[in-house]
Amino acid sequence: MSEEHYTGACLCGEVKYSLRAQSEEIRGITACHCEQCRRWSGHHWASIHGPKSEFEITKGEASVKWYRSSDKARRGFCRNCGSALFWHGEGYSDLVDQMDISAGSLDNPKGLTLSRHIFCKFKGAYYEIKDGVPVFETFPKD
Ligand SMILES: [Zn+2]
Ligand SMILES: [Zn+2]
Repeated sequence: MSEEHYTGACLCGEVKYSLRAQSEEIRGITACHCEQCRRWSGHHWASIHGPKSEFEITKGEASVKWYRSSDKARRGFCRNCGSALFWHGEGYSDLVDQMDISAGSLDNPKGLTLSRHIFCKFKGAYYEIKDGVPVFETFPKD
């Protein structure tokens, strides 16, 4: 186990965050192809997830707008530049203690690689997934 310290920011730099996590907890980057994530991100949503207790918005908390995307989840973005930053499944008992963070906003995604594609049965019709990374029709059971 090794503890990693990840930091990141939105496009305009108004919002910055910090996440400390064991590398094993992060388990790589997940690409979600569900319709909500496609609309939210503009393509698919690539994110890491880490322990919420070790996650902190270190700058610009008032600039984070939380959009309630379903009765169980909310999505955080920068109200100045619109960068999609966070997904929090606060209504899911197994996800409430996690924070998902967009991989593209990380300052230094050291050691992280794309590890799985999820909700692929809902992917956009305009692309194929051919990168050899495991593909799941919905959500994989761990
Ligand atoms: Zn911003
Ligand atoms: Zn999704």
